[in-house]
Amino acid sequence: MFTSTLPRVHVVGANAYGYTTAILLLLQGYKVTMIASTFPGDPDYYSTTYHADDTTSHWQTFASISDASLQRKYNTWPAMLKLTLSFSTLDLEYDSSTFKMLWKLAKCKAVESGIMIGDSFKYYQNPTEDQLNPWWKHIVPGFEIIQQQELPKDVKLGYHYTTVLINTKRYISWLQTQFLSMGGRQRKTKINKLLDAITTQDHVNIIVNCVDDLQLEASSTTQSDPSTKLCTNQWIVRASQVRKSVNVKTKDGDMYIYPRGDGTIVVGSRRQGTSHSQENPTDVLETLSGYCPELKWGKGLASLEIIDHHSVVKSIRNHGPRIENQFIVTPSGRKLAVTHNYGHNGYQSTWGSSKRAIRLVNEAHARLEKDSQSMSELLSHL
Ligand SMILES: Cc1cc2nc3c(=O)[nH]c(=O)nc-3n(C[C@H](O)[C@H](O)[C@H](O)COP(=O)(O)OP(=O)(O)OC[C@H]3O[C@@H](n4cnc5c(N)ncnc54)[C@H](O)[C@@H]3O)c2cc1C
Repeated sequence: MFTSTLPRVHVVGANAYGYTTAILLLLQGYKVTMIASTFPGDPDYYSTTYHADDTTSHWQTFASISDASLQRKYNTWPAMLKLTLSFSTLDLEYDSSTFKMLWKLAKCKAVESGIMIGDSFKYYQNPTEDQLNPWWKHIVPGFEIIQQQELPKDVKLGYHYTTVLINTKRYISWLQTQFLSMGGRQRKTKINKLLDAITTQDHVNIIVNCVDDLQLEASSTTQSDPSTKLCTNQWIVRASQVRKSVNVKTKDGDMYIYPRGDGTIVVGSRRQGTSHSQENPTDVLETLSGYCPELKWGKGLASLEIIDHHSVVKSIRNHGPRIENQFIVTPSGRKLAVTHNYGHNGYQSTWGSSKRAIRLVNEAHARLEKDSQSMSELLSHL
């Protein structure tokens, strides 16, 4: 039997990016322990701000050609030159390879993984240059631009295409099941700093960080990443007549409808800032009915039954996700590698960015091995 000689890695964060990275590490031959304050199945798991609760998400990409120029503002020229050549294309690569993986799951493991294929309509009130010619039109099947005369009023651009819809609760549980059945371990603990992910008894020198805003050390003076607050209101509404997903980009956010496949839909409104937590669902439904007339079918909007409501404010990293290695020496002289894979806003790059994180873990492992060999050589000369 083949026994891997690869070491144990600790992955911090039990959500989409943590589990995806952990599964790919196990496939590569690493032993993996996941560290998190709560795990899927725990009563308090879905009540935290990290999770989209028992709802549905859909694949949508935020990567655009203008992302590259946005990055340019924040970086020095040589670093940026490298970034413009690689970062935006990497983003596109992360998102497109994730779409392909989720599509395959929807085709062959729809029931278990909670991923289904669905019709999607996307509308822009004020489209940008990128949105007029989206890079992803060749990734999603059936992409077509909606004719001007068929667009709802106040909208300048609209697409129709096919995408994947993710029942987040089912999908995260499915990822956890894969992880555990492949031999992964879980350790429940809330940590105050990343270095707490390893105790003195652990023979581990690689940590993968899949949590926003965790400093390496509690005393760290490093400023947290610049971020923007995004307020999301979501309602679960009984509306079996709505079978398509709809997303409307407004000037300060977006509104959406995702069907859940059980006769209910998710109705959402996402806006910058923190002052929208008391948004009125009737207003949101009224606006969305202009884009999805099916909402008014039957006895009209007033008769729609709202089953649940969540309001979440989350900080979104301005510079996009952080996927890179960091090497540190602890106060006790232990050399550690931290592979960061955090700061994502959505499921759209889970598989692509986690594949990149695995390559970084491999590089970190090779470097730590080389260090330890040179230390052994040094000692052998004594
Ligand atoms: C209301 C809402 C609606 C959304 N809708 C969509 C959508 O339609 N489409 C889409 O693609 N995405 C959507 N998202 C975003 C998507 O859910 C997130 O981008 C995704 O969950 C990010 O996952 P992540 O792996 O980066 O981890 P995070 O969400 O950052 O979770 C980190 C994990 O680490 C654990 N943890 C955190 N701190 C500690 C600590 N100190 N010690 C130990 N463990 C810790 C937490 O328990 C958590 O499990 C939505 C999110 C919300 C909240």
